[in-house]
Amino acid sequence: MAKILTITNQKGGVGKTTTCVNLAACLVAVKKRVLLIDLDPQGNATMGSGVDKHQIEHSSYELLTGDSSAKECIISGLPGGFDVIGANGDLTAAEVELLQLPRREFRLRMALTDVQEEYDFILLDNPPSLNLLTVNALSASSGVLIPMQCEYYALEGISALIGTIEKINKRLNPELRIEGILRTMFDPRMSLTKDVSVHLVEYFGDKVYRTVIPRNVRLAEAPSHGLPVLQYDKNSRGALAYLALAGELIRRTEAEALAQLQEESES
Ligand code: ADP
Ligand code: MG
Repeated sequence: MAKILTITNQKGGVGKTTTCVNLAACLVAVKKRVLLIDLDPQGNATMGSGVDKHQIEHSSYELLTGDSSAKECIISGLPGGFDVIGANGDLTAAEVELLQLPRREFRLRMALTDVQEEYDFILLDNPPSLNLLTVNALSASSGVLIPMQCEYYALEGISALIGTIEKINKRLNPELRIEGILRTMFDPRMSLTKDVSVHLVEYFGDKVYRTVIPRNVRLAEAPSHGLPVLQYDKNSRGALAYLALAGELIRRTEAEALAQLQEESES
């Protein structure tokens, strides 16, 4: 069964989309089966994966409204080796339409039951907001991966996200928890970066990934070629960092599965 992860932070420009696309490609590089679902009407993850967002027949909009099945929406054969359900401006209308639909918080969860067995990981890219689309993502996920830039206001606003995660955990999805905090665009030469980083570790403890993503121009260039960085420049620091993140994520996932098995055998 796929592990479904929401990648979110209601701040824009912190590296959500970059993380989603590149983590997907790096998980594929270590032989995992991955589906990326774009839930941002901007469609940046779609384009960055090599799909023209204006040419999608069945997008995440139709997936959420139930007009198309997951299988109809999935686009395969892309350069990164992972599958994509794309998004474009159509998705802006989904928020309002979802309000009228039954089980509006669970549309994504229901839509994914069909394909969960076919993947190891399903990664959900989100817009920089906390709306019904994000609620759908959180209701469908077991974990939340929060990319953060180590700058002065990084922690501000995170409390709203943590509050939402707690609420959804109580009311809609008891499985949901914070999977990890990822430090992005990291520049160790800046003392502010180091200070904020220390704060993050104090606050979130071992939820903070050991892997940090450096500021790397290759990561910023790759999307304009419709490629993950691994396919664009596999020796870049950005590519190596996301490979390390994929390794860390898999090790953590395996350790958790083992702990759960032990717990079950003891009880
Ligand atoms: P979000 O999805 O949170 O809005 P993006 O992933 O789109 O953020 O990143 C915002 C901008 O910063 C993009 O232009 C992206 O290419 C660039 N970027 C993201 N991560 C890095 C990085 N580690 N190094 C350099 N540029 C980055
Ligand atoms: Mg984005």
